[in-house]
Amino acid sequence: MRKLYGETQPGFWIDGYFFDDTKVKDNRQLNVHDLDQISKAHPVVVHHRGGHTSYYNSKALEMANINRNTPNPPGGTYDRDADGELNGRITDRARAVFNNVGKRPTFTEDQTEQRNRDGLAYISKQFVRYGLTSVHHEGGDLSALQHVRRRGDLRHRVSYEVSGKILDAMIANGIMTGFADEWIRFGATSEHTADGSFSERTMAISRPYLEITPPYQGNVTETQDDLNAWVERVHRAGIQVNSHANGDVAIDMVLTAYERAQRVYPQPDARPKITHCTLINDNLLRRIKALGAVPAAFTTYAYYNSDKFHFYGEDFMKRSMAYRSFLDAGIPAAAGSDFSPGPFAPLMGIQGMVTRTGWNGQTWGANQRISVDEALRVNTLNGAYASHEEAIKGSITPGKLADFVVLAEDPHTVDKAKVKEIEIVRTVTGGTTVYQA
Ligand SMILES: [Zn+2]
Repeated sequence: MRKLYGETQPGFWIDGYFFDDTKVKDNRQLNVHDLDQISKAHPVVVHHRGGHTSYYNSKALEMANINRNTPNPPGGTYDRDADGELNGRITDRARAVFNNVGKRPTFTEDQTEQRNRDGLAYISKQFVRYGLTSVHHEGGDLSALQHVRRRGDLRHRVSYEVSGKILDAMIANGIMTGFADEWIRFGATSEHTADGSFSERTMAISRPYLEITPPYQGNVTETQDDLNAWVERVHRAGIQVNSHANGDVAIDMVLTAYERAQRVYPQPDARPKITHCTLINDNLLRRIKALGAVPAAFTTYAYYNSDKFHFYGEDFMKRSMAYRSFLDAGIPAAAGSDFSPGPFAPLMGIQGMVTRTGWNGQTWGANQRISVDEALRVNTLNGAYASHEEAIKGSITPGKLADFVVLAEDPHTVDKAKVKEIEIVRTVTGGTTVYQA
């Protein structure tokens, strides 16, 4: 960021990404004083990898006109230190005040197109390198995606999850989930956000967080009425709804909206998605099953974020990323990398789901372990089911698309703590080798 300081004119933002408070030497959140060391003339922000919280310097706070007397807005917080001063950490919807503050680099239309195409071609290469042949892709530049496919650089298939203008256009023009072909197909909506983040500890939960004063139960980022209205509008249009809900409070709200939509406009086999669906209980499980909803819980977190589970404690972790509970209840839970917050490597996900042991050697919620077979199914057939594509994807079966990976070793027989080390020898999409080691 010091390098960016030298390259950035005053008044323009200096941005940092991919900060993770439990992956740094001193194991702490950033604060306003840290970022003031980068610059006092520029607005400075560092975004947490989880995507729901950011840290700002004094200049940014001043430009957004927020100070110690500014009340928290709905759905977010301006965090404070022991003396009540802003500490620079700002969560969820409270960050909206920065949208129209400071200057950001601008690009011509051509530059934007080029950046989007090159970015998609790059990530497609990375996906197949780690053995992914299909993803549920949140938004992004739909025309760039088609250009990349046209020029032969799309190596994986995309269930394109819509929001904003494209969602509105679909509703206005009668385009439903399932439209287009097996390379780029309209899937569910993008995550409609109902609460905060698991990794950044802002998800909406039914008891206060441990060791936080004043008592804090996370951020609900949407009212029940707004959620009901959005879900009904999308559901009526024949588009598969998909909401982001981490905490038990938010999952309850999302289920309430889905149940209501099915009552006023019953649709068979709608498979509404709950992305993350992290902290569950028996009542929520029953309702998910009754609705035929599909949760897509975090897969790689059990390995990658084991350094954060102590913030919740073992009681919560026994009910979090609850693949054992989902499968035992007959719920076809799908995989959710949540990239970029979580790594997308499926083998890392499978190792975590099978062992519940993290990179730091800690095991949390071992009651939620599933077998290698079950984890493979979650990462293949259940993912296909989540986007209504189980007839063409998800297993190596005559008549389905020839999408598969060749592994150097059998995940059933290797040491379970080494599944993520298995080499991807070859990735094949539609019968064509798209990656070779
Ligand atoms: Zn999310």
